[in-house]
Order: sequence, then C-alpha cells, then structure tokens
Amino acid sequence: MTDDYIRRTAITRLAVEEQQHQLLERTVTAWKRGCQVAVEKGWPRCSSKRALQSRAYDTIRDETGLGSQHAILATHQAAEAISACETRAENGRTVSKPEFSAPTVRYDSRTMTLFDDGTVSLATVESRVRCDLVLPDDQDGYQYQYLDADEWEVTESTLTIRDGEWYLHLGFRRSPPATEQAAAENGTVLGVDLGIEHLAVTSTGRFFAGRELEHRRAEVTKRHRRLQETGTRSAHRTLTRMRRRDRRRTKHDLHRVANGIVEEARDHSCTVIAFEDLTGITDRLPGAEMLHRWAFDQLVTYVEYKAESHGIRVCTVDPRNTSRRCSRTDCDHVAAANRPQRDRFHCQACGYEVHADYNAAKNIGLRAVRCGHTSSHRTGASQCALKSGTISPEEGFHPDSDERAETPVHG
Ligand SMILES: [Zn+2]
Repeated sequence: MTDDYIRRTAITRLAVEEQQHQLLERTVTAWKRGCQVAVEKGWPRCSSKRALQSRAYDTIRDETGLGSQHAILATHQAAEAISACETRAENGRTVSKPEFSAPTVRYDSRTMTLFDDGTVSLATVESRVRCDLVLPDDQDGYQYQYLDADEWEVTESTLTIRDGEWYLHLGFRRSPPATEQAAAENGTVLGVDLGIEHLAVTSTGRFFAGRELEHRRAEVTKRHRRLQETGTRSAHRTLTRMRRRDRRRTKHDLHRVANGIVEEARDHSCTVIAFEDLTGITDRLPGAEMLHRWAFDQLVTYVEYKAESHGIRVCTVDPRNTSRRCSRTDCDHVAAANRPQRDRFHCQACGYEVHADYNAAKNIGLRAVRCGHTSSHRTGASQCALKSGTISPEEGFHPDSDERAETPVHG
C-alpha cells in the first residue's frame, strides 16, 4: 500500500469461550478456502484486487460461508499473493501457485469492532462473537500506547491461532506528524457526538434533543400493536398511513438537526465536521436500536450534502475512548471512572466536570485534528471549535476575543 501512514502492530491474546472457539475455527477454515478459491480464479495473471473480486466473489460466497466483507477481503488477500509472485518472477526467481494453509483470518473495520470496555467483536461464518482482549494488568503494556492514544487508528488486523490460543494482531496507523500538516490550511473542526438522549451534541456546546424521536417511536409502536391486533383492512390502511407519516416526521426532524449542525459549523468558521465512525454504534450505545442506526446514517448523509454547498467537508473518526478521555488537552487522562454516570464526565486526574456528550464531542473533534484526517486535502484542520474559542492538541485552549463562557446551550 503506498500511503504516508506510519503503521504498527499490537498483539493481544483473546479470552475465547468454547462455542466461540468453534465458530472462529470454522471461520479460519472458510477463510483459507476463500483465499484458495480466489487464487484458482486469478492464477497466474490476475493480481488486480478489483478484477479478482468480481471474478471470484460469487463463488466464495456460494462455497465457503464467508460473509460478504470477508469474501471481499479474501479476494484482496489472494490478489496480493499473486502480485507478490509476479514481482518474484520479474526478479528471475521461480514461483508456484500460492497455498493458503496458515491458520489466520484478516479483519478490517467492517468485520471487527474494538470497544472501550476492552472487548472486541469479530465477524464469523455465523453471528459475531464478542470476547475480551487479554491485556497486561499494569498500564505499561506496549499495546496501550496504541489502544489508548488518540492519534492511532485501528486498521486491517489478523486473527490467528497458536497452540490452541487465539491472538489478534491489531494493525494501527497514524499520519506522520509535523510538516505537511503544518503546511495545511489553518482549518477548524466541529466535533459531533451522536446519542439517544441527545441526538447530537457539538464541540461548541449545542445540544439537539433526541427524546422527541424516542417518544414518538414508543407511541407509534404502541398504536401499531393495537391496530395490528384489530387485523381489519381499514386498520391495515391506517397503519400504512401512520408509518408513512411517521417516517416523514422523523426525516423532517433529522433535516432540522442537520441544518443546525451545519449552521453551527458556519458560525464557528469550521472547514470540517467530524462524526464518530458508525460501525458498531448500536453495540456501543445501550438502548440503541436499528431505528437509531438508521437515523444516525440519515443524519450524517444530510449533513454531508448540506455542508458540501458551503465548502465544508465531513469526516468520521475512530470512536475508541471518546467517552472516557478527558478532553482537556493538557490532561488527556483515559479511564472508565471518568464517567460516573451516563451524562456526567468527571476527570479523575484533573477534576474537569462537564456533560459527558459534550466531552465526547470535543474528543471527536480533537481526534480528527490529531489523526490529520484532513491533512492531505486543502481543507486541513489544526484545531477544534469550542463554544468560546478553539482548542488544538499542541497549543491547548485559545479563547475567542469576546470571551464568552464555556457553557453549553440547549438548542
Ligand atoms: Zn482531566
């Protein structure tokens, strides 16, 4: 891969239960088979990922039981193996068709989710399994410098079994520090946290209520159930009408919130709006349902196209630790105890106390800055917008000239 990222690997053992063990073993078998099927389709000349994917994907799905994303990853693994053979052949060395016998499976952000409670969920040939990472007890383990550090993002990783124990080789990447980021435009990020209690909270301290949506959802479900029990044709018609009206109202709400977010970004001269990556969000948020996942997806999409016409870009960041990290850049303390209640953030190191969603929104904005998500574009960002000023990882808080207090407003 030719990009500018710095890459590191952190290896951790997994605590796997018997049933999970069997599922993972079947996944390894399916993976090896999937890669082999792809090689048979491509050997010896097809080393383009895209071409091999379209050639082998259907057969892999039919014959191996791998999920769609794993089937794609298997074609990519095979294409890389064929490509490596081509290079060896060009250098005058003998090559033979690749055989996939290693007990491994490749994972990416769509097939694997790391959670803040030290667990990981992995796609298998059936349902996902969720197991504990077995990390060193003291916080000195080298893994923590990647797991807890804001600037490292999780990228492609490999699961493997050795002497009956499962290990995850977690791939991390970060953009190189300094130079081109410094040369980038002095842009500002608006961080946005999504949730149920508040649909969205910005790093500038604007809160968008989510309770109306919740309330309406509960009401509608109740009325639906009553009508469904009636079972008549007119009840069915009423039901259809209500569903349509409900969808319209929800979309209307989401448009209103999207407009508010873009407005907030413009008011604070932001060039980038950062959301957390939505993969696994229904697992991260207790009480979240498919409706929320749908609503979050819609909201981000609406913001994307509304922001575009104002020259504002939307990016997503890795959500790890955004709710447990102290958003004061001179503190940066990460601990589960920092969040004593769902809506309170209270830093155990520096005493900073603030609404938990607001703290998360600031962390999302800061992460977009630190990861330099935007550095290769003209709209590079080097600071995160707050209610009363901006904050940057290097220089900390910088107040606006009019010195407004850093108190969140509800809107
Ligand atoms: Zn702190």
